[in-house]
Amino acid sequence: MSTGVRQSGSAFELAPYAADSSLGKGRRYVEPAVVGRSDYQRDRDRIIHSTAFRRLEYKTQVFINTEGDLYRTRLTHSLEVAQIARSVARRLCLNEDLIEAVSLAHDLGHTPFGHAGQDALNECMKPFGGFEHNVQSLRVVDELEERYAAFDGLNLCFETRESILKHCSAENANNLGEVAQRFLDKKRPLLEAQVANLADQIAYNNHDMDDGLRSGLITLEQACTVPLFKQYFEEVQRTYPGVTDRRSIHETVRRLMNFLIVDLLEETQRRLQQHKPDSMGAVRECPPLAAFSEQMHEMNIQLKRFLHKELYKHQAVLRTTYKAQKVVRELFEVFMHDVRLLPQQHTAKAERAQARAVADYIAGMTDRFAIREHQRLFGFNEW
Ligand code: MG
Repeated sequence: MSTGVRQSGSAFELAPYAADSSLGKGRRYVEPAVVGRSDYQRDRDRIIHSTAFRRLEYKTQVFINTEGDLYRTRLTHSLEVAQIARSVARRLCLNEDLIEAVSLAHDLGHTPFGHAGQDALNECMKPFGGFEHNVQSLRVVDELEERYAAFDGLNLCFETRESILKHCSAENANNLGEVAQRFLDKKRPLLEAQVANLADQIAYNNHDMDDGLRSGLITLEQACTVPLFKQYFEEVQRTYPGVTDRRSIHETVRRLMNFLIVDLLEETQRRLQQHKPDSMGAVRECPPLAAFSEQMHEMNIQLKRFLHKELYKHQAVLRTTYKAQKVVRELFEVFMHDVRLLPQQHTAKAERAQARAVADYIAGMTDRFAIREHQRLFGFNEW
């Protein structure tokens, strides 16, 4: 069995517990294999070429797309997640193609305006089964992308689809069938999905801190109340006395990120040695294998709490949240009031299931499209 550590960066070797596309459950619609690309490579390529992927460029991570050009968007967030996930995957001899596909697709279902938009849409959709961005990501790749002549969606492999679905209520799991069966059986996802999930957390905790400091909504003094940040910030000051704030923020954040990634690697290797899963199926039966150490888990929670209090609930962010939610709510109300107000390509779907078609339309919007559409419907200067 592999030691779980790739010694050289060049050889492409899969550990026995890695996802192997030749052992996968295949696609919903059978397609001929292509020469020279694995199934998961093909999935990643389809995701990159999808419309939903391009829209991520104009969707909020924390800061609304119009607030500044240098803040993370859903697109740059997804690329950072893929970078972290791929480097961890390489060290653990996991399937890099699958983990890249999952990382790039994980936020495809996000509404405009980030979590503010998702919360507002979920509230509107309560009587109609709710709205959850993670389930919506699967819906995008399974149904909403309209690119292929023979089927709706991207017709991705089972393992990619299953790994995109990070959370799921029992009710949704019952409706979704086999792809959500693990939630009903209380089994683990593949290791690639577990790592991608933690790479997501490493990415957003660090880049939100970075963006928060850049925006001035968080000060360096405040950031230094997080012990982990303080430790690395002081190390940077000692090593490079007199360095500018901008450089010391980056030097601190990159150390912080590296510390989290190394901890994730070491704890995951420790668990792999303890449980010795010998196949991708065996991973599902084990306790969670990709994890931070207990100590790091605690420190990570401190970082999250800090960001929640000082950034996500900052007055300036709350004021934008309020406006964003109003846009989403009013768009929902107007299209529920009269389905004929939807663009024509959505009306046929809306006649079958109005609320879901309206939610799909709104969820697909970029921040600026939602603002413009709201202006067109409610702004008197548009007359
Ligand atoms: Mg994410």
